[in-house]
Amino acid sequence: MATSRSQTIDPVGCATDIGKVREHNEDSMLVQNSLYVVCDGMGGHQAGEVASAIAVQTLSRLAPTYPDASKLERAVEEANLAIIRAVEQGIGREGMGTTCTAAMLDGERLVIAQVGDSRAYLLHAGRLQQITRDHSLVADLIEHGEITPQDARNHPWRSYITRALGLDPRVQADLYELNVSAGDRLMLCSDGLYAMIEDTLIERILATSATPQAAADALVRAANDAGGSDNITVVVVDASGNTERHIRKLARKTKITIGVIVGILIAIAIACAVAINVLATNTTYLGEVDGKVAIYKGLPGDVAGISFSSLVDVTDVEVADLLPGTARRVSAQEIRCDSLDDAMSLVEGYRRDIQSRENGGAPDDADANPNATPEGAVAPNDANASANDSSASAATDGNMR
Ligand code: MN
Repeated sequence: MATSRSQTIDPVGCATDIGKVREHNEDSMLVQNSLYVVCDGMGGHQAGEVASAIAVQTLSRLAPTYPDASKLERAVEEANLAIIRAVEQGIGREGMGTTCTAAMLDGERLVIAQVGDSRAYLLHAGRLQQITRDHSLVADLIEHGEITPQDARNHPWRSYITRALGLDPRVQADLYELNVSAGDRLMLCSDGLYAMIEDTLIERILATSATPQAAADALVRAANDAGGSDNITVVVVDASGNTERHIRKLARKTKITIGVIVGILIAIAIACAVAINVLATNTTYLGEVDGKVAIYKGLPGDVAGISFSSLVDVTDVEVADLLPGTARRVSAQEIRCDSLDDAMSLVEGYRRDIQSRENGGAPDDADANPNATPEGAVAPNDANASANDSSASAATDGNMR
């Protein structure tokens, strides 16, 4: 017999007893957080109690922390394999096994994994309902209409179970998922209880006991009074519904979610700032200050009211001396360069262009360093472009006549 009990969420009571006939208690039980387990071992002394103890120990380690049917199912599968491995390692005895009724109750959510003939019952609105279906020969006979539940109590095959942990590596648990109401009373038990006393008595005891522990003790007493021919194990849990805790949990999750979103937004903002800064430090553009061509570092305009540019130099080149197209683009801050050197070369080109025009010469393309005219910038020789523009408009005018 293994009995483990730690703090739980809902009010709980539990009791296990050897009964009045058996020499050993092969049942094990576990009460841990929202996990409640009853296991009824089989295989005789130094086997049955070993198998049931391995099952509850494995579930204690591997069960989820909240009612999750598939995770609970996996923990039960692991418990099954743990018993099989134990036999291979010489622990316990060949053929040992155990039933397993494992319930998880959190708030109104109840999940049960079931193997064998230990049971889960729910007292709802004062009425007892059996939740689980036994994996036993007599349960099959009752389902096929061959015997009545009353016949099953004294049937010679009443102790044969059709499914157990520890015998078949592929054993499957039946899973039950349901919502319970606040005030419902959950009861898990080994067959030593329900084989001894009628469901009507179980119902009366559960309905009239003040606390889960009083109910568990009264149930064990009643089974012993009725003969106690088997080990008796009972776990009783009151569903408190505890919606308040759920709301708190939800609020915490929401806070975490908001935190994550704020974090992502901050990260995006930082990334944008870094990107703008990189652009701003590598880009220069031309503008106009007091009628002179000026060189700025950064990006023209602003982002959300923040300026990313600074004035580097106001040159001695008069904007008014530039070709009209170039002058307009300088004033509109439309001419950008990839570097400060490019910007200075460009302004130098303008200066020579102006000088050569003042000397009466044509704009000297050869003097304009093509490298100083970055993509997107207007080259000093855009006089040609302007000329082409006017000839184009003249041609258009001509066509219209
Ligand atoms: Mn039993």
